[in-house]
Amino acid sequence: MTGDFLQVTCQDCENEQILFEKASTEVACAVCGTTLASPTGGHAQIEGEVTDVVEAR
Ligand SMILES: [Zn+2]
Repeated sequence: MTGDFLQVTCQDCENEQILFEKASTEVACAVCGTTLASPTGGHAQIEGEVTDVVEAR
């Protein structure tokens, strides 16, 4: 299973959080609970701002 990790900044509280780009479950901000990513069956729908990509090895 391959895929990259994305660093996403929450648009509500500016918390930076790493999440899997193909998240299969909804990912919420650890600080304020805003949804950062929603599963779509493929690449997750990212709700925040992607500020960095961490390549999986
Ligand atoms: Zn937040």
